[in-house]
Amino acid sequence: MRLIIKYEYLFMILEKAKESRIEICGFLLGRQEDNDIIVKEVVFTKNRLNSPTAFEIDPLEILKVLGYADKKGLEPVGIFHSHLCKPIPSERDIRGMRLWRNVWLIVDNKGTYGAFILKDEKIDGVKVEITQS
Ligand SMILES: [Zn+2]
Repeated sequence: MRLIIKYEYLFMILEKAKESRIEICGFLLGRQEDNDIIVKEVVFTKNRLNSPTAFEIDPLEILKVLGYADKKGLEPVGIFHSHLCKPIPSERDIRGMRLWRNVWLIVDNKGTYGAFILKDEKIDGVKVEITQS
């Protein structure tokens, strides 16, 4: 499985994570073609926990994003958030991954990132492919 994302989108997420003292979060919208998950748009949401070690998105905001995606003919193909430590799924993230079974892109505040998906209760790494356009 591959997550295909434009450089400018990844850069936007990494920059925001660098500037933030809390975890940032949002949705990756796009579409899936076989094993390719193609990101077409990035939507930032609020971290309602305001926390440097966890994030949570308001369910009403999730509904808004899903409605927006639907209108644009896109799917919520992934969730992204930042860590102030290593960009690997935490225990809390794994619980969230059971609810949102799409790709989870995790970045840190130093420009490192990784993508993961929960498959058969196991975390699988997803290759991130960066495109220029
Ligand atoms: Zn996390």
